Amino acid sequence: MHETSLIQFTLDAVARQARIHGIRRVSDIRLIVGELKGAIPDQMEYAFRILTASEPEDGLFAGTKLDIEYRPALLQCCDCGHRFPVTVETLASTVCPRCESSSYQIIGGNELLIDSFRGE
Ligand SMILES: [Zn+2]
Repeated sequence: MHETSLIQFTLDAVARQARIHGIRRVSDIRLIVGELKGAIPDQMEYAFRILTASEPEDGLFAGTKLDIEYRPALLQCCDCGHRFPVTVETLASTVCPRCESSSYQIIGGNELLIDSFRGE
């Protein structure tokens, strides 16, 4: 499951940082996930519950809360510079609404960021 690997990646990164900062229990993790990651919110929650229940023996993620902010996808036209939103479903067939160019770059919606985490 795709969401499982996203969550696993997140937990690994947080665990590394937590150790560096001497944190023994993480209370909150705030994630920013772009729409183009194709992550389903329910599946993210589910993967988080499963992985934190089985993960580190040391209880680093015991009772950790997950907060996810989903960022919409945003494209920028390479020809006229116009920025416009898009959905995963229409991405493959999209053109610039201003000049109809099909040359664009993704400037938002592809991120997976750990915005912050807290612990003690
Ligand atoms: Zn354009």
